Amino acid sequence: MAIKNILKYGAESLREPSKEVHKVSKKITELVNDLLETMYSANGVGLAAPQIGVNYRVFVIDVSTNDEPLRPMVFINPKIIKKSGAIVSNEGCLSFPEAYTDVKRYKNVTVKALDTHGRPFIMEATDGTLLARAIQHEFDHLNGILFIDHCVNRFETDNVLAKYGLPPVEEDFLVEEPELEAELKND
Ligand code: ZN
Repeated sequence: MAIKNILKYGAESLREPSKEVHKVSKKITELVNDLLETMYSANGVGLAAPQIGVNYRVFVIDVSTNDEPLRPMVFINPKIIKKSGAIVSNEGCLSFPEAYTDVKRYKNVTVKALDTHGRPFIMEATDGTLLARAIQHEFDHLNGILFIDHCVNRFETDNVLAKYGLPPVEEDFLVEEPELEAELKND
């Protein structure tokens, strides 16, 4: 286990799609342990492999609060098999130190993945909880998509990024989300 350097916005690995894991080998177990250790040392809620420069489809999440025991969750080759509802979520990312902005997310997601032993599981996260939002955020990292690509107001997001010395939103990467936008308007 080792604490790895977390890549910052602008690093190439963050925009590269990640490869499927063919076997949950010792190498992958070590990757999972590095991700967990790095996430905990940075006080993060989630961390995806591309953020430490490894483009494999693996991420970790822990939504436990400080007064609770740790609850590490490991997702290998995740697939989001169901999503519904819409919510605006104020998010940050360990690759964007201190920069928080409003993004569009689904309220409910069901994810299918392998755990750290290579066993399949299905998890449902509803009501726009931190877990539901973290699953979408981390899943995106595996496809080279970043939270700012879902921003509600591009100009506000650019202002936040500039304040923290980060590059602006990249127009070509903005995600078109007519479904989410329609639902948010109806709320
Ligand atoms: Zn992130």
